[in-house]
Amino acid sequence: MLNIVGQSRAIGQLQRALSSGRLASTWMFAGPQGVGKFTTACAMARTALCEAPVRKANRHADGLHVSSLPDDFMLTLACGHCESCKACDVGVHPDLHLISRQLVRFHDSSGKSKASTLSISVIRGEITGDSNPERPVESKLYKRSQRGRGKWFIIDEADLMQHEAQNALLKALEEPPPQTYLVMITASPADLLTTIRSRSQQVQFNALPTDMVIKQLGLQGVTAADAAIVARLSGGSIGCSLDWLGLMEADKADAAKRAARANKPRAGGDDDADSADDSPDAADAPPSNILDWTTAICKLLDDMVVGRAGAMQLATIIQKNAEDYARRQLRRDPLTSKEQAKRAGIAIMLAIIGHWLDDRLRQYIGAAIEVPLPATTHALSPASVRRALAVLRSAENHLDSNAHQALLLAANMTALRAAVSPQLAGR
Ligand SMILES: [Zn+2]
Repeated sequence: MLNIVGQSRAIGQLQRALSSGRLASTWMFAGPQGVGKFTTACAMARTALCEAPVRKANRHADGLHVSSLPDDFMLTLACGHCESCKACDVGVHPDLHLISRQLVRFHDSSGKSKASTLSISVIRGEITGDSNPERPVESKLYKRSQRGRGKWFIIDEADLMQHEAQNALLKALEEPPPQTYLVMITASPADLLTTIRSRSQQVQFNALPTDMVIKQLGLQGVTAADAAIVARLSGGSIGCSLDWLGLMEADKADAAKRAARANKPRAGGDDDADSADDSPDAADAPPSNILDWTTAICKLLDDMVVGRAGAMQLATIIQKNAEDYARRQLRRDPLTSKEQAKRAGIAIMLAIIGHWLDDRLRQYIGAAIEVPLPATTHALSPASVRRALAVLRSAENHLDSNAHQALLLAANMTALRAAVSPQLAGR
């Protein structure tokens, strides 16, 4: 668990807990998306389940020194060789339960549910069980540990638990069986019941320093200049950066699959989830990524300020980019809710506009712009930027409503245009 970058404080807290031998039964790992919370939870469980854990002084941790711990602290590490470690590595340890919204496919009898929330059926099926005599479900929580070293339940995106699911879990947390550990992963702890939060041991994860994200993206072949922009937009999240660049493992597998398909004559009965709305060319072309989106949006904003582009053009490009984003999410997992993915995509595009506005304001007051987004325009006054940011906030709020997204976006971009080019607003 020491190779997780940039989370020395969280790792230190977990190492202290492991060494004390008194692990809390309920944990909450909170912090931005894509900074290593889930990976750390899996590593923590692997260490606790290891049959022959190794103790090693922090100073001897071979380049993996935990800076938040003293040099003579004795770290607890998984051995990496025992049956338990090997089972964790290939995802088949019987006492390690990974729970995500995608599991809905195993617990929904209709087989049609989209994985947009963590439903009560997933929580019952994977953790608490259900005592309903008509449809009893065995509780994994109360089953004995199969390898005798405790049981771990890791809930990814725990804030997506529906209210009913949270209540079911809360009941289980009131009297957890011995040697049972539950880790909730969340980027928005406020969406969990206060009573769940107060029962959990909190571990805070941080956004990563920009240079660390740039270095990690460099390992994936991204140039330093591009990586700097992506690191800025993702706010120090490696996970989001890889997601937006289309560099996740699933994307690479998908690209390889499409490349293989491109070399084969296309058969008529292609039943891939994404084939219906893709022409053969579009299906095999690499999907656009955050760098393309940023270039296109910034160019339109530039044009808009000088009256060469209209609000509808911006609204259209936002929609198109968001659809591209959603298409990639669906390729990774056909059970993803397309609407939800598209909303997330629009939120990314609005965030790009926010960063561009921030640059224009810095330009106006003569402040340095560390990693500027592409721009050719002049500065914008604080009043213009303030009005434009208010429009963005309202557009973000509209995302959660069920109203007609395209119309709302067009209306908001019209207001944005009026804010950044007031002299043109009446035309
Ligand atoms: Zn081991």
